[in-house]
Amino acid sequence: MRGLWLIDGAGMIARSERKIEPADWQHSLREAYTRPLELLDALQLDPAAVGLSASAAAQFAFRVPRPYAALMQPGDPQDPLLRQVLPVTAEDRRAPGELLDPVGDLAAERAPGLLHKYHGRALLLMSGACAIHCRYCFRRNYPYGDSVGIERLNAALDTVAADASISEIILSGGDPLILRDERLAPVLARLAAMPQLRRLRIHTRLPVSIPARITPALVRLLGESRLEPVMVLHANHAREIGPALHAALLPLRHAGVTLLNQAVLLRGVNDDVDAQQTLATALHGAGVLPYYLHLLDRAAGTAHFAVSLRRARFIMKALRKTLPGYLVPRLVREVAGQPYKTPQA
Ligand code: SF4
Repeated sequence: MRGLWLIDGAGMIARSERKIEPADWQHSLREAYTRPLELLDALQLDPAAVGLSASAAAQFAFRVPRPYAALMQPGDPQDPLLRQVLPVTAEDRRAPGELLDPVGDLAAERAPGLLHKYHGRALLLMSGACAIHCRYCFRRNYPYGDSVGIERLNAALDTVAADASISEIILSGGDPLILRDERLAPVLARLAAMPQLRRLRIHTRLPVSIPARITPALVRLLGESRLEPVMVLHANHAREIGPALHAALLPLRHAGVTLLNQAVLLRGVNDDVDAQQTLATALHGAGVLPYYLHLLDRAAGTAHFAVSLRRARFIMKALRKTLPGYLVPRLVREVAGQPYKTPQA
């Protein structure tokens, strides 16, 4: 029960002494699996059979919310959801070309926690924390400690306010929805007061791992904002789009929030035509359009997830033959220093 944030008399975000009760989704956050053996036990899996690595877990902590774990198939060591979150021995190997900052985030920092890579858009790192820890994460080594916090957030917002060329603000992280609605509200209010901004985009995996994160208060915040709201979910597999996420997204759709998805092409998770077809179809069923399919960013310890460009193009060709164009995501790679995501097919 930590304090609120609010807008003070000077129009800045400030701390309030008022305490608030945690919401349901925060209970799910607290009850997340943080020990791999506990999750493997729940899934009736032998740790020796899945290649569990204690050193990988020590490098990048294990964290899986129970609503996400409930979507996994017990007894299947190759479960595509489990593979995304389980620290395995393959992470301990270093491959040529792997980097701590594979997409050049640090070079794009205009102020601590504010990245400016592309024309008209700027990205705020709202928090270094996530509900779920994805082993393929391109920011798994990002030095968030230097980027977040209320004072730095105000400084980053001042920088955005002073730049008339920025028309779209992107909230990212970590996961921006790790912040409670009471803390997001003053940030969104400051952003809405900047006349040059038109769109507010939120990149998040939190609704995928804890659908209850889509609260009525969040729906109101987005639906009533002066800014045009866009939410980009990060779902990689059709099984991540269960009935709870369906139900949670419906109010966002009714509130006029544009819902998109970006996925990462991951070996052993979604690197076949059927997995991509079913993902696209499941997304549309939930009111979400496939936006990007990313080739893996070469973050240290992620090489075992890499899919070749040749295979990626084969999958894309098959998708174009079988899906309507609006359900085919754009295959892209993020290249550090480039002015846009680089199309790959
Ligand atoms: S939710 Fe996103 S930022 Fe967080 S670990 Fe997963 S991929 Fe990385």
